[in-house]
Amino acid sequence: MKLLVLTGDGIGPEIMAPTVAALKVLDGKFGLGLDLEDRDIGFAALDSGDSALPGSVIEAARASDGVILGPVDTFSYPPAEDGGVNPSGGLRKALDLYANMRPSRSRPGVPSMVAGMDLVVARENTEGFYADRNMFQGSGEFMPSEDIALSVRKISRAGSARIARAALDLAGRRRKKVTVVHKANVLKMTDGLFLSVAREVAADYPGVEVEDIIVDAMTAHLIRRGADFDVVLTSNMYGDILSDQAAELSGGLGLGPSINASDTHAVAQAAHGAAPDIAGRGIANPTALMLSVAMLLDWLGARHERDEFTEASRRFDAAVDAVLADSACHTTDLGGKATTREFGDAVLAAIETGERA
Ligand code: NAD
Repeated sequence: MKLLVLTGDGIGPEIMAPTVAALKVLDGKFGLGLDLEDRDIGFAALDSGDSALPGSVIEAARASDGVILGPVDTFSYPPAEDGGVNPSGGLRKALDLYANMRPSRSRPGVPSMVAGMDLVVARENTEGFYADRNMFQGSGEFMPSEDIALSVRKISRAGSARIARAALDLAGRRRKKVTVVHKANVLKMTDGLFLSVAREVAADYPGVEVEDIIVDAMTAHLIRRGADFDVVLTSNMYGDILSDQAAELSGGLGLGPSINASDTHAVAQAAHGAAPDIAGRGIANPTALMLSVAMLLDWLGARHERDEFTEASRRFDAAVDAVLADSACHTTDLGGKATTREFGDAVLAAIETGERA
């Protein structure tokens, strides 16, 4: 099974090292037969005169069974025409990774603002307001004059239907509830289409309860009663924002994993960014990237009907839970003193012992 490892910028190298070390231990223990290939993206690629997402990396991603993508510091990149292409958006577009699944769960031992939260934001990942990926050609953002900037938000029936189906399928395997989040009271055509397609698709899932909530109110509902939600189905930008909010409420941004999937490809990627404010200090929390890789192993297990991958995913997740349950292992973002390396070593030990939280 071929996995492509793209380390990324900022804290990328610090969180990728313990994640890959843990993956190698799981590979040995569960006989996964992994073939890991490293390629440069982001500033490492820009520094060697290439674009931040070289074409050869896109081809390597296409030829891989899965990709592990570190965070990228896109805000600091030069303009796209000078190579500063967003590797994250570029891969989502090139591989048509329409489903961005972002779980948030309150974990034992982690101080959380919402007790008992266990939800997944199912975010549409290829259209909406994201100008770098929502057009066939050209950009969805443009300036008719130097004082006017416009952005086009695309919502399609097909794009809405496939993420709705992914969310409803997921809910069917969980607590059987989907909350559609929208702003159809104002954006009657775009969000209206997203909502009506979600309802149409939901008709095929009589066992799943479907409700809908307007996005501004949803930010309050998450704080007040975050434990009530199971799968939150929403469009690109709302999903980006709500999933960060949910991750923070569950304990911190460093805890939020994600997977970006099409029907044939998947990219594991922490929900957070490159955290340039703490990069190079060895204090970043690798939890989100580790749990993203656990999600990728689970996805590979389901896609290829390989139980050993599903087992490895569970072991990885349980090991991270066990380490988070011990406040002596907490990194500074969780109020602790542990370094990234100490956290990583504790996860390796927990994988070895098969400890469960
Ligand atoms: P960020 O997520 O990088 O950081 C926000 C805050 O959370 C910072 O204080 C940071 O130190 C903290 N944080 C994030 N991850 C952490 C971790 N693993 N451990 C401990 N603390 C952590 O968001 P930002 O500062 O708005 O963006 C920085 C750069 O990252 C920008 O260039 C942005 O475009 C990019 N970005 C990339 C992605 C991605 O790669 N998917 C996502 C969001 C932002």
